[in-house]
Amino acid sequence: LFGNEEHKIVIVGLDNAGKTTILYQFLMNEVVHTSPTIGSNVEEVVWRNIHFIMWDLGGQQSLRAAWSTYYTNTEFVIVVIDSTDKERLSMIREELCKMLSNEELSKAGVLIYANKQDLKGSMSASEISRELNLTSIKQQQWHIQSCCALTGEGLYQGLEWIVSRLK
Ligand code: GDP
Repeated sequence: LFGNEEHKIVIVGLDNAGKTTILYQFLMNEVVHTSPTIGSNVEEVVWRNIHFIMWDLGGQQSLRAAWSTYYTNTEFVIVVIDSTDKERLSMIREELCKMLSNEELSKAGVLIYANKQDLKGSMSASEISRELNLTSIKQQQWHIQSCCALTGEGLYQGLEWIVSRLK
């Protein structure tokens, strides 16, 4: 799927967004190597040649300064959103803005998963897109994909977008 080169994907989102569920859907039935802890709120999983680094954007402020050390050579950022969590969307917008202004991520692709589409009251991808003002992202290429991590619906389409953009 990803060839022989190494790739690095950072998965972020607030707690409870569905990051772990999505990661494990990708890794299902595969032997996964988990790296020794690289930080208390950060997890790294290596699958084939892809390094997935995952953390909660809602994590302690004190750790945030350290996050940027994980950005180096990141090709894609996957932002996982709980589409029912309207209250915290503005928090995501702020964090996303901060993150994407980091020089290390200037060439990264950004995939946004509008997760939990199976739940009543979930916002659609276009509503989330509007709330996050995604069209204002000019430097990075981005794509929003609605999905349900529990069933895996939509996850593969998101990955296809990433694959289509691999250099
Ligand atoms: P994380 O904190 O971002 O890693 O979130 P988790 O992957 O641990 O998921 C948080 C909770 O949301 C768990 O109870 C999951 O089963 C649930 N969850 C994740 N994705 C979905 C989804 O698409 N639909 C529904 N209904 N629940 C989901």
